[in-house]
Amino acid sequence: MTVCKNLAGCAFVNCCKEYDKANSIQGFMNIYCKGSKMNSCVRLKLCESHGKQVVPKNMMPNGYPLPGTSKSGWSKEALNPRK
Ligand code: SF4
Repeated sequence: MTVCKNLAGCAFVNCCKEYDKANSIQGFMNIYCKGSKMNSCVRLKLCESHGKQVVPKNMMPNGYPLPGTSKSGWSKEALNPRK
């Protein structure tokens, strides 16, 4: 199975493991981190274009903040990612 090369150090994945997030989050992981949309992950693209320091911890693979969180404090690159 192919998995994202950033999986081990990805804050999204690690936060989800830590908090045992909802099924919808597991769905994201199956589609992006371990699935066909991996190369569409906004986190991955931001990391490759600007470095991981601009990728917010609470950004989901689709570029939106985790439910219950906001874009407060996000870098300008994260606020306007190339999709
Ligand atoms: S969220 Fe994106 S960067 Fe993180 S492991 Fe999944 S596909 Fe990779």
